Amino acid sequence: MSKKLIIAIDGPAGSGKSTSAKLVAQKLKYLYIDTGAMYRAVTLFALRNNLMGQNQLISELTKNLDIVLEFIDGETKITVNGEDVSNEIRSFEVNSNVSEISAIADVRKILVKKQQEMGKNGGVVMEGRDIGTVVFPNADVKIFLTAGIDERAQRRALEFSEKGTNIPVEKVKENLKNRDFIDSHRSSSPLTKSPDSILVDTSNTTIDQQVELIIAEVKKAETK
Ligand code: C5P
Repeated sequence: MSKKLIIAIDGPAGSGKSTSAKLVAQKLKYLYIDTGAMYRAVTLFALRNNLMGQNQLISELTKNLDIVLEFIDGETKITVNGEDVSNEIRSFEVNSNVSEISAIADVRKILVKKQQEMGKNGGVVMEGRDIGTVVFPNADVKIFLTAGIDERAQRRALEFSEKGTNIPVEKVKENLKNRDFIDSHRSSSPLTKSPDSILVDTSNTTIDQQVELIIAEVKKAETK
């Protein structure tokens, strides 16, 4: 039997992380963990309870949130205190506020601990912004995906329209730029490529090519 590895996939929004991470996990029969969904769930909670800006209170309340992440029929299912919020966490409002929440150091500490617990036995593909740098700095395979801003904005706008929400590409682009800026400049574990991760620019690659490339890295790591 091959080793159960930890595969970290990081990168900015719209870089193709989710699509390729899901497929890689499926091929390897590994667990797929979308850490962004957890930050989104806390954001939804903060928005619903009018807590934006009250960082200390948000951190306190996050400790007691029962966040459960599952992967069912190719989709991430996330519940908070038993309520399925899988769709709500993808709204444009959550998109516009999530970077403010994910910059709160105490919120990060709580979620990172949960993520480390979920992945500690290996056999996981975990995607996010800080997986290879903070959550699993010793991950067996570290990939950093990137793509040009226009390409990423087109992809996200298409995703929204497929779900029935039409948002102009320019507006999506502004949102992505804003998130990229906050995510890469926050003091607590900013989005950054760790020197030992493999950079993959997905602007001009097909999903199949991205998946093949990652699987090839996994095969190499399995023999180490
Ligand atoms: O990956 P996704 O776009 O769903 O992530 C939403 C937001 O959650 C990111 O813009 C970022 O602010 C935050 N995030 C993070 N660290 C992670 C995953 C996501 O800060 N590991």
